Amino acid sequence: MTDRMGDEGGMARQRREMVEQLKSYGIGNPRVLEVFGMVRRELFVDEATRAYAYDDCAWPIGYGQTISQPYTVAYMTSLLFERRPAGKVLEIGTGSGYQAAILDALGYRVFTIERIAGLFEMAGRALESLDIPVERRLGDGTLGWPEEAPFDGIVITAAAPHAPQPLLDQLADGGVMVAPIGDLAFQQMTVIRRIGQRFEHEVFHGFAFVPLCGREGWPE
Ligand code: SAH
Repeated sequence: MTDRMGDEGGMARQRREMVEQLKSYGIGNPRVLEVFGMVRRELFVDEATRAYAYDDCAWPIGYGQTISQPYTVAYMTSLLFERRPAGKVLEIGTGSGYQAAILDALGYRVFTIERIAGLFEMAGRALESLDIPVERRLGDGTLGWPEEAPFDGIVITAAAPHAPQPLLDQLADGGVMVAPIGDLAFQQMTVIRRIGQRFEHEVFHGFAFVPLCGREGWPE
């Protein structure tokens, strides 16, 4: 099958290879693997890296930011999906829009916040070109989106010094936050589940993200 770009054949093969690679790295959830096989990642990267969109790399997307590598997106998505597979999800750090598109494909109602206007617009164009109904806001994501709370899931896709209190407050009972927490060089993927007024932490592998800025993030 071909698409508007006329290269769906080539990219579809690369997308399948990416899914095989994700499996070999230990991503096992069939539904998560299925959506990685569906969402056209090449539409979320810069033109210069389009041919390499399916490499397991975090390519620059401008403004000193990066699209997270497929493995990282799949890892975070699995942590959320296996604990809270439906409902409203808030993403902090829209970046390219790819993670938001993956969450939408899993059936979540997705809200995403980006602080850099240029990226907010770029991601908007990519998501709209695919008719992906993600709600977007420009601003400091560490403050959350109180009008839309509570959220079943909150995913922070930038390096956080700690779990921002406004975001913990906006988690639903039984809701799950997934966030890389640590210093600027190294963070541990952390899952925080809200049970009433209690918050249970689980700590997973180490990663290196771009910084989470803003009031509850790192100073600029
Ligand atoms: N989820 C993205 C990854 C983007 S990288 C993707 O799929 O491509 C992290 C993003 O977080 C950057 O775009 C950065 O500008 C943004 N960011 C950092 N601090 C933020 C904040 N306080 N509020 C909203 N976005 C923030």
